[in-house]
Amino acid sequence: MKIVILTIFPELFDSFLSTSLITKALQNKKIELQTINIRDFSEAPHYKVDDTPYGGGAGMVFKPEPVLSAINFAKRACPNAKVIYLTPSGVPYKQALAKQLSKDEQLILLCGRYEGIDQRVIDQAVDMELSIGDYVLMGGEIPAMVVIESITRLVDNVLGNTESLEIESFSESPEGLLLEAPQYTRPPVFNNQSVPEVLLSGNHKEIEKWRKHKSLEKTNLIRPDLIIKRQHG
Ligand code: SAM
Repeated sequence: MKIVILTIFPELFDSFLSTSLITKALQNKKIELQTINIRDFSEAPHYKVDDTPYGGGAGMVFKPEPVLSAINFAKRACPNAKVIYLTPSGVPYKQALAKQLSKDEQLILLCGRYEGIDQRVIDQAVDMELSIGDYVLMGGEIPAMVVIESITRLVDNVLGNTESLEIESFSESPEGLLLEAPQYTRPPVFNNQSVPEVLLSGNHKEIEKWRKHKSLEKTNLIRPDLIIKRQHG
């Protein structure tokens, strides 16, 4: 999969791309990442890419010309890529979408700054607007990293243990999308608190039952919205 990131701060991705499983995925050619600086497409003095909003109001807005030129440039290398704009006013980003996007061959991620991007670019060149949560950040770079990381770990053979993808939070189940049950490792007793006995029993059936119960309990408590509501009667 090739992912192109359009940003005015490509340097923000340096340590992200040189750490952990992302580096491994890059080295093993499971993914390919390219950052493109939107400023390189500005014809204004000092590579200016922003201007004041029509109608007044606080802050600045990305001018349409450099952003559209950057998208068109990226599209030449990735003609089949969806163009995704990271924005708090986009549709909420979910694990199901990460799964879907991990099957794409190419993606273009557009990172905003300031008060956002001129709407005409969104109307003319953006396929999908995604929000990573109900809060406002200063830029789309961290949201882009969220999307890249969530997708990369789902690309075939990136994680050593594919089983961990089957039994993790937001995995589908007949009850809905369940959160993962609590996890424990050695030592068996820590600060007077013991690991639940069933996990030490070696009885896989009972362990599975316990995990399902804890999973449902936690989801009901923290994210009841994820549980499928069944119609009765
Ligand atoms: N004026 C915009 C609004 O109220 O919706 C917020 C702009 S925000 C300060 C600047 C940029 O950060 C956005 O263009 C977007 O790329 C990014 N951003 C901020 N919060 C985000 C979120 N929750 N999800 C995705 N992108 C976000």
